[in-house]
Amino acid sequence: MRTPFIAGNWKMHKTRAEARDLAAALKEQLSGVSHRLLVAPTFTSIETVATVLEGSNILVGAQNMAAARSGAHTGEISPDMLKDVGAQVVILGHSERRHVYGETDELINTKVQLALEEGLEVILCIGETLDEREAGQVDQVNRRQLTGGLAGVDAGAMGRITIAYEPVWAIGTGKTATPEDADTTHAAVRSIMADLYDQSVADAVVIQYGGSVKLDNVAGLMAKPNIDGALVGGASLKADTFVPIAQFDS
Ligand code: PEP
Repeated sequence: MRTPFIAGNWKMHKTRAEARDLAAALKEQLSGVSHRLLVAPTFTSIETVATVLEGSNILVGAQNMAAARSGAHTGEISPDMLKDVGAQVVILGHSERRHVYGETDELINTKVQLALEEGLEVILCIGETLDEREAGQVDQVNRRQLTGGLAGVDAGAMGRITIAYEPVWAIGTGKTATPEDADTTHAAVRSIMADLYDQSVADAVVIQYGGSVKLDNVAGLMAKPNIDGALVGGASLKADTFVPIAQFDS
């Protein structure tokens, strides 16, 4: 069955020293947890965090990646560079990348394919804005982002992709979809995956929920049949708040 997968997105927070301290605390306090765990520090702290977490049960990820292997791409970081500093996973298509930095499904798809070719696992983020939700377009947006983001990715690679459903209106706002609402959308995402691939891929794919996940709501969300994990932003920045989420018991 699907192993619960709890990931922390540290966004643009923490110097290396702060990242090292948090990683060390998580390593110690989460050592007995059997869920899949990941933290995604800023590029500058990946190597520091990967060194601390070596041999632990916590994976290390990046929050973004270039759409090219090398070359004239000022300010970008290639898949090889991510692997070189110890990243095993990359988060792609986060709503902040889509809506603040203008990333399109086409660009995200280039990154997804490149990351897979280069041996990185991918967390592909999808989700609607408030306007799209109010216009009744949730499933349509998710279908468009999944179809675009996964174009050319074959079923054999799907074991290395996690989908993170993150309604944009719930990210960093303190608003969370109810477990019922989120589960309904996750079920719809799973059925889109069955259309794009087949039922066995849809049944196997891990779908995280993201959007103001906290200790108060994690167990309720994780108790739902189609919610397999969480992508956590704000509450992943302190051991005190992330540890109990990662240890959730539904
Ligand atoms: C995120 O960064 O993906 C996120 C869901 O943030 P938050 O938990 O702060 O809403």
